[in-house]
Amino acid sequence: MATNYSNREESQTSFSSELKLIPRWSVAAAILAFVVMEYLFWVVFPHERHHPGPPFGLRLYFALSWGALASLYMLMVGYISNDSPRRGMSVRIWMIICLVMPGGIGAVLYFLLRQPIISLCPACGTHVQSEYHFCPQCAYQVSASCGNCYRSVRITDLYCVNCGHDLASDNRPARLHAFR
Ligand SMILES: [Zn+2]
Ligand SMILES: [Zn+2]
Repeated sequence: MATNYSNREESQTSFSSELKLIPRWSVAAAILAFVVMEYLFWVVFPHERHHPGPPFGLRLYFALSWGALASLYMLMVGYISNDSPRRGMSVRIWMIICLVMPGGIGAVLYFLLRQPIISLCPACGTHVQSEYHFCPQCAYQVSASCGNCYRSVRITDLYCVNCGHDLASDNRPARLHAFR
């Protein structure tokens, strides 16, 4: 149970664990997208144009920035494909939206509309959202909260960061004291 809590906390806070959500295929797609962009800029476009193009520095700037944008987009799509299921959002629908909407609007929409992370109640397996303190089906306490103001607190805190309440006086379940 104790490791459950630490995993939950880390997955919500740590940037490096968010990066682990990016699947290998999307890293490969990102590299491919960068290569394709460079190919377009340095091989395809110069041949289609007969008059001399913009100066080299400008061409390099556009080639690199469009390449970076394309690969960033691939990483974003990969991230969304793994992030949406843990929020109870349809992967298929969001993949279609991301691929259909031009210029990354799909990805922007996703981050505006995304739902809180859903995890499973350790006691009964019900889906609980990350802001829940108790399981709605079995009343298992899934995260620590202040007994005075009822805001979320970290299980390692001795006092509520919001109201200064002494958390030791709350008689919280023993499983929440695991990291003391
Ligand atoms: Zn439950
Ligand atoms: Zn409080």
